[in-house]
Amino acid sequence: MSPLLAARAAAVPPSATAALDAHAKALVAVGVSVVNLTSGEPAFPTVEPAARAAERAIAEDFTRYTPAAGIPELRTAIAAHLNRHGTTYEASEVVVAAGAKQALHYAFTALLDPGDEVLIPAPHWVSYPHLVALAGGTLVPVHPAPGAGLKVTPEQVRAAVTERTKVLLLNSPANPSGVVYSRYELAALVEVAVEFDLVIVSDEICDHWVFGDARFTSVAALGTEVAARTVTIGGVSKTFAMTGWRIGWLAGPAALASAVTALQSHTASAPSSVAQRAALGALTADLAPELERRRSELDARRLATVKALVDTPGLRVDGDPEGAFFLLADVSGLYGKAYCGRTIVSAADFAELLLAEAGVAVVPGADFAAPDHVRISYTVPPEQLAEALGRIADFVGTLT
Ligand code: PLP
Repeated sequence: MSPLLAARAAAVPPSATAALDAHAKALVAVGVSVVNLTSGEPAFPTVEPAARAAERAIAEDFTRYTPAAGIPELRTAIAAHLNRHGTTYEASEVVVAAGAKQALHYAFTALLDPGDEVLIPAPHWVSYPHLVALAGGTLVPVHPAPGAGLKVTPEQVRAAVTERTKVLLLNSPANPSGVVYSRYELAALVEVAVEFDLVIVSDEICDHWVFGDARFTSVAALGTEVAARTVTIGGVSKTFAMTGWRIGWLAGPAALASAVTALQSHTASAPSSVAQRAALGALTADLAPELERRRSELDARRLATVKALVDTPGLRVDGDPEGAFFLLADVSGLYGKAYCGRTIVSAADFAELLLAEAGVAVVPGADFAAPDHVRISYTVPPEQLAEALGRIADFVGTLT
């Protein structure tokens, strides 16, 4: 270990998804034809009203520090945005941060003491273990039973509770599986949190991206007792295609909102003033038709991806990818097969060969607690997606 770094920093590896994304982009830069299915963002432009609001903010020189919790009109707009799902948030319970990631960092820092445990249904997003560890806690994945559609049961969560468990972390629609827990399933899971007096952190960043018959449920809408112990995480990144603007939020009990505001006041001061105005522009415009159009486009890409993978012998789509813009393909059916003498024995082997030999970048699932899977992000434009899916089928077809 480098003597330069504290153990805290040395223990944090770079994000596997970001590393793969960078690798794929580097190959493209030197002329290799790569279709990149690693991305964690919808391939749409930032919604118009957000961009115009940012231009106006700059023209008006709205470029100073804002209140640490965010500008009041944005906090009000976020509360209204959340309450469409049946919650009853007040603006005073909302804190604006530099992305949902930053909001999660603040939430865990405010909630966890050293050694506290955070339960998470697996597979789970790559950043959770590190966000929790940085705050002194430990992420404890709860694994679904084989064949259970990548969903955990309340009994499995209950069995994982220890004296140190402080938080139940939920993420539906889920990254990386795209699985959407129903209202009924979530209600049963949060009962465990009530029973053991756990705080619930509900990462609802992909609330807009739900397809087919699936319906999004906001955990804090499941009753006042649940709302009182829930921290809702969200942001504009995914819904409005604004990943680079870095605006997210948390909403929760007033004591937590105050603690997080204090944390932010001493660290970031506040998120960017211009980006806050952009987010306000997105949240207060009538974007329903545009967002609905985008949802239909993404749904078509989702269905095309599922079909192509189901039709490829040896690959299996696991769980029901009804939300977000990812799915997990189980590649263990290809273990033992070989490409030019190299035998595939892991999802990492598959992903490496697929990139090197077929020019398709996907993320191996080990860091998502899904070791036999690869995560496929289907947000890329349809012609690129069709090309990638064709390459995957051809590559698998050449394995012996
Ligand atoms: N939560 C989940 C599940 C995510 O997938 C992501 C981004 O990939 C985030 C949070 C972070 O979002 P933001 O861009 O708002 O920081």
